[in-house]
Amino acid sequence: MAYQVLALKYRPLLFDDLIGQSHISQTLSKAVETGRIANGYLFTGPRGTGKTTSARILAKALNCVEGPTATPCNKCPICNEITAGSSLDVLEIDAASNTGVDDIRTLRENIRYLPTSGKKRVFIIDEVHRLSGSAFDALLKTLEEPPAHALFIFATTEPHKVPQTILSRTQRYDFRRVTTAMLAEHLQNLANKEKVEIDKEALFLIARKGEGSVRDALSLMDQMIAVADGPISLEQTSRTLGVVDRKIFEKLLEIIAAGKTEPIFDLVKVLFESGVDSADFVNDFISYLRNLLIQKSTSDPAGLLDISESEKEALVRQASFFSETDILRMIQILADLLGKLKIGYDERIFLEIALVRLARMEASITLQEVIQRLKQLSANQPAPASGNMFDNLKPPHAARPANSQPTTSYRRPSQPAQSSPTPPPQPPPPPTSPTSCAPPPFQQAPRPANDQIIPGQPINLPRVQMGWSGFLDLLKKRKQMLASMLSEGKVSDVTDNKITVSFAPTNITNKQVAQKPDAVAVIEETLREHFNIAIRINFQIDASVKPPPVASEPSAGLEAVNTEDLFSSDPDLKKMVEQIDGEVIGKKKIEE
Ligand SMILES: [Zn+2]
Repeated sequence: MAYQVLALKYRPLLFDDLIGQSHISQTLSKAVETGRIANGYLFTGPRGTGKTTSARILAKALNCVEGPTATPCNKCPICNEITAGSSLDVLEIDAASNTGVDDIRTLRENIRYLPTSGKKRVFIIDEVHRLSGSAFDALLKTLEEPPAHALFIFATTEPHKVPQTILSRTQRYDFRRVTTAMLAEHLQNLANKEKVEIDKEALFLIARKGEGSVRDALSLMDQMIAVADGPISLEQTSRTLGVVDRKIFEKLLEIIAAGKTEPIFDLVKVLFESGVDSADFVNDFISYLRNLLIQKSTSDPAGLLDISESEKEALVRQASFFSETDILRMIQILADLLGKLKIGYDERIFLEIALVRLARMEASITLQEVIQRLKQLSANQPAPASGNMFDNLKPPHAARPANSQPTTSYRRPSQPAQSSPTPPPQPPPPPTSPTSCAPPPFQQAPRPANDQIIPGQPINLPRVQMGWSGFLDLLKKRKQMLASMLSEGKVSDVTDNKITVSFAPTNITNKQVAQKPDAVAVIEETLREHFNIAIRINFQIDASVKPPPVASEPSAGLEAVNTEDLFSSDPDLKKMVEQIDGEVIGKKKIEE
């Protein structure tokens, strides 16, 4: 037997068979059961959502020998003729190819005749918005005084193009785009009936590509069944339909979060070799980020996200990597890229550049956060008078911070070394790391007896943990901001004189700042001085680390702002933004 396309084979025969349109099937069923049938209906909605199918079911519901009934038998000759499109009482006109007034005149001639076998003469006009102005006028005359046996059903994807005079004489039903999840479920049912073995994620891919249209999704499924030889895999579907598997975005985002650039070039290479359209790819990535934004910013993302379970898991995990502001910035960069691709920029080069920009993008830190940090610090030490706020804030001659722990207390460098009681023998200073930048002038301080640091001895985790707060105190005198950021991390490992500090995923900013070469140099220099041995440091993100309490999401309530206008009205702000190499992402009123 020849293959019958799925859309025809499984065309809904009853209102209840409609996919994703329960609001319509219920209302129409009720109208038929109560006999409250209007003379004109307008079915609007995206293509492939069941508008003309519903029109035929309604025609059958009214004309079936067992009717009017909300559940036509689909067996009697009248039902069969309507299903086959051969009924003389049900006329289907495609306005897309019959836009002329003559067709409507013919229709008006036709309308006077009584139904041949059924009870109603049903006129289904598809794509009704395509009718010409004079055709609409002719139609209107018929609609104003329709014979009792006539029923008009207009279908359109563009209801705003239908004249108000027609709209006001019809009952409007809005068909909805079918959700990806619902389409995927429908496809799964049909695959079961057809005994086709297909990967669940592949079904989601087909459903997504169907973009809310049952007809389009079924036709893509036909295509896959035609090419497949055995079970249909995700990979095969992705390749055949030219759709990017969303797993690639998961992977890409992990690369970006880790700040790596090398894998990006490999990924773009693979993309271009597989022939994926780069604009499609960027669009899909933007839509992935949009989902991430919803996951991040809404209390009930499930209600808004139309994605598979495995995609949800990835989103939940990845939402912790970025702030809302970061996600918006990434979307902006990609939207700019899309514009460049449209006007003919070299696709591969600009895709690479944009993705590398994303990976190199530093996490957003708002001025409000900076101010907040400074306030926290100034609770212990007076704020600096001037200078770059990320730079070392000169050690003030204030008392030691009250919160330092006594077991690891560390004497202030201002104390003269000679005055120290029984200083331990000073080991020869270890070689300075070649990358190290000169630290601020600093006098080696004597170590208190309870510091438990034995010079030159290899360090281990307990030793570092005990000496950590003393180290932070020392670092604070050189790089106050850096010390504050480090204090939010946790020393998680010490191996071969290498310390690993773990940050909570929400603290990715701290990691990014701390791992900059000049920051690392200062940290390692300070570690060396404090622990008296050359120590390397590295940083990682660890979901098990508890993030420190934060006041509020910095990006919440940001108001869009035109940077140029802002700078021309406030040159000082411009200078400050330039000095910290910042970027204006919006403005927000800060309450004192
Ligand atoms: Zn019937």
